[in-house]
Amino acid sequence: MKKVIYADHAATTKLDIDAFDAMKGFLVDSYGNPSQPYSFSRDAKKVLKEARENIASCIGADPDEIYFTSGGTESDNWALKGFVKKQDRKQIIVSPIEHHAILHTAESLSREGYEVCLLDVTEEGVALPSFLESRINKDTAIVSVMLANNEIGSIQPISELAAIAHDQGALFHTDAVQAMGHINIDVRELGIDMLSASAHKFNGPRGIGFLYVKKGTDLYPLMDGGAQEHSMRAGTENVAAIVGMSVALRKNCDSIADNTRHLLSLERQLISGLKQNGLDFIRNGAEDHLPGNISVSFKDSDGEMLLHRLDLMGIYISTGSACDSKNTQVSHVIKAIGVPDDYAKGTIRISLGKDNTAEDVECIVSSLAHVLRAE
Ligand code: PLP
Repeated sequence: MKKVIYADHAATTKLDIDAFDAMKGFLVDSYGNPSQPYSFSRDAKKVLKEARENIASCIGADPDEIYFTSGGTESDNWALKGFVKKQDRKQIIVSPIEHHAILHTAESLSREGYEVCLLDVTEEGVALPSFLESRINKDTAIVSVMLANNEIGSIQPISELAAIAHDQGALFHTDAVQAMGHINIDVRELGIDMLSASAHKFNGPRGIGFLYVKKGTDLYPLMDGGAQEHSMRAGTENVAAIVGMSVALRKNCDSIADNTRHLLSLERQLISGLKQNGLDFIRNGAEDHLPGNISVSFKDSDGEMLLHRLDLMGIYISTGSACDSKNTQVSHVIKAIGVPDDYAKGTIRISLGKDNTAEDVECIVSSLAHVLRAE
């Protein structure tokens, strides 16, 4: 088989083999519905409890603060819609570099009469506490700022932002979909009220995630139905996926220090390789960023063209753009941080993972140099 280099771990990750092994038994053997009282469902009930405890311990939460969902999109929708509808306050504050799971949810709430306020961000893609201070007021119901950005990796000053929200009597939610399993997260230390996560970003299966909801937070369920998840999230639990998520999260959390060291070393190799090849580029994002997330904008180039040329060479990366059938538009994140026009269109995201090697990086650098020089 042709060697491929997967460098798009911010899009999704490979299922961890131990997570896969742990899942199998709950698909074909212990497949009982955990809501049933008979003994055949005992194993499913037991692993659900253990998974909830394990996931809670990975983020410093209590088990009954973890609600299983279908992933990041559902968790984000639930956090915003479930909370604001319980409030008299009408303002929602979000950063302009949030994932569409937050931005489009906020937009949908604005059509129902809520006022949506977009924070400023710096050129590094950071929502400074002073920016929030100047926008928040007594009508703010919730502030939602992501823990780390999916396109440029910038890590946000979450504990300071949460403290400002609380001073004004507002609630603080963070979309931690990209950060979970990759940097240490303690919900109490960060002072957050709700947090969204998705398993497929940390080597768990697709279609499963969770929402952390601090005890005492008043939320409406997103969906009506059965009494699962304390009647807060109806629907028969995806036991196998929950088990896979739990195993994958524990493994990733236990190896954050080693993975970070490895990824930062690959990053340095990649950036110095691009420089040694004399390529004209800007690196996007903040100094404090997700290890392995590298957003670069090449002058007078085209990210989509780079993606397709690398694809032909068996290298998989992403662009900084949202494509429709006719136009390539610079992404809302690249626009928000003000990347100059002659660089913006040439933006790509290389998101390295723990299995990438120095040889992979060498190959990415030489392939990029080859394509860019031939342009
Ligand atoms: N939030 C962020 C920051 C993301 O990067 C993503 C996925 O790319 C999501 C939310 C959506 O998560 P899911 O794919 O689990 O619905």
